[in-house]
Amino acid sequence: MCGIFGITNSSKASFLTYIALYSLQHRGQESCGIAVFGKNGYKYYNSMGLVQEVFNSEILKMLEGEYAIGHVRYSTTGSSTITNSQPLFFRTKFGEFAVAHNGNIVNSEELKKELSKRGSIFQTTTDSEIIAHLISLSDRKDFVDALCDGLGKLKGAYSFLFLYQDCLICARDPWGFRPLVVGRKGDSFIFTSETCAIDCCGYEVYDEIFPGEIGIVKNGRYEKFKFKNVEKYFRCIFEQVYFARPDSLVCERTVFSSRYFVGKYLAEEYKVDADIVSGVPDSGVAYAIGYAQKSNMKFMPVFMKNHYSPRSFLQPNQDLREFIADLKLSPIKDNIKGKKIILIDDSLVRGTTSKKIISKLRSAGASRIYFLIGSPPVKGPCYYGIDTPTEKELIANKMDIDGIKKFIGVDDLYYVSIENLIRACGNGDRNFCTACFDKNYPVL
Ligand code: AMP
Repeated sequence: MCGIFGITNSSKASFLTYIALYSLQHRGQESCGIAVFGKNGYKYYNSMGLVQEVFNSEILKMLEGEYAIGHVRYSTTGSSTITNSQPLFFRTKFGEFAVAHNGNIVNSEELKKELSKRGSIFQTTTDSEIIAHLISLSDRKDFVDALCDGLGKLKGAYSFLFLYQDCLICARDPWGFRPLVVGRKGDSFIFTSETCAIDCCGYEVYDEIFPGEIGIVKNGRYEKFKFKNVEKYFRCIFEQVYFARPDSLVCERTVFSSRYFVGKYLAEEYKVDADIVSGVPDSGVAYAIGYAQKSNMKFMPVFMKNHYSPRSFLQPNQDLREFIADLKLSPIKDNIKGKKIILIDDSLVRGTTSKKIISKLRSAGASRIYFLIGSPPVKGPCYYGIDTPTEKELIANKMDIDGIKKFIGVDDLYYVSIENLIRACGNGDRNFCTACFDKNYPVL
């Protein structure tokens, strides 16, 4: 989790970064920050909290410069503290640079031990800082060469942005777990996690940084090259299932479309006589619309979402998560009373949120509830940056289907097949990491 954004050659660099981080807020709500470079050098500002809480017009004015990177953070490695907030800033033999990272380095402990033995002093408990030490200790003469050298030692998930004075550099791991796209308007370029951040700046989606590639923008010129040859991609399929925004493009289609097609496949796989089809807001809705259209059934909302409460999974402890889950959805009673309801959600992880949601439908008078899931059972924890619980906490590892049905209180439960999920999300050659469903971890 985390969202990253970088922009070059713009007189509104800090403002556009602020707007873009706002559109990436769903990727992390713990802390955020912006670093800029301009005629007066670097300026940066990081703080705990949401983008709208952290930045104001005075701070944005102070962040003067035509080149900027920004970050919204949800911690999966390292604690949720101000010292761990990004972008991180470093002074090295190559000069100064700022870095923003999305992903999880799986060999971080090993690397940290090795680097510490060589004299590295770590300022944070993040895995993101490691790349700066690797660059600094490299014996290559040039920053980009030293970066390639450092990247060669990392295993796991990373999309990195580097603001190296007036040069913006990005890198995507050779497995391609986390996304990285390019936007353009004239000679101004954007590197970011999702296309929604490009759209909101009024730029065009221009390219994608593919697994094992580095992108560079300098003097208004964009180029990219492979730092590692890659035969197979392992894009995180959970981006489409749950994490990314429905209006973002992944694999040349919107995330909405992928979810909508999963809903259609669910309608082919699972048929039942019901009065209405509905989705758990927000991510379940696209699946439900797909199901309703394919099966010629009526789509009706059954919950009103309070958009002013935080996403429950983005709260790092279980008590807070459950409390927030409770306050964010209110049943629309007339649409529920006496009805047989097909309810669709994107995923079932611990089962605790779903149990609460279902009990709300029961209290509002639903006569039967068929619960359909837009992804297969989650059985493996993610080591690449999605915050899933330990193996033991995952409900699919604790109970069989009948046990889960009983626990969450539904009349039936059905998960989409992995084949149809992949069909809905990909283009054949676009391979996915599906380790959370099948425990096939591409790198450990
Ligand atoms: P639960 O019933 O506790 O398993 O929670 C399932 C709900 O949590 C679904 O509605 C998903 O939208 C959401 N969800 C599932 N996995 C994640 C994740 N890794 N991060 C954030 N939200 C998630």
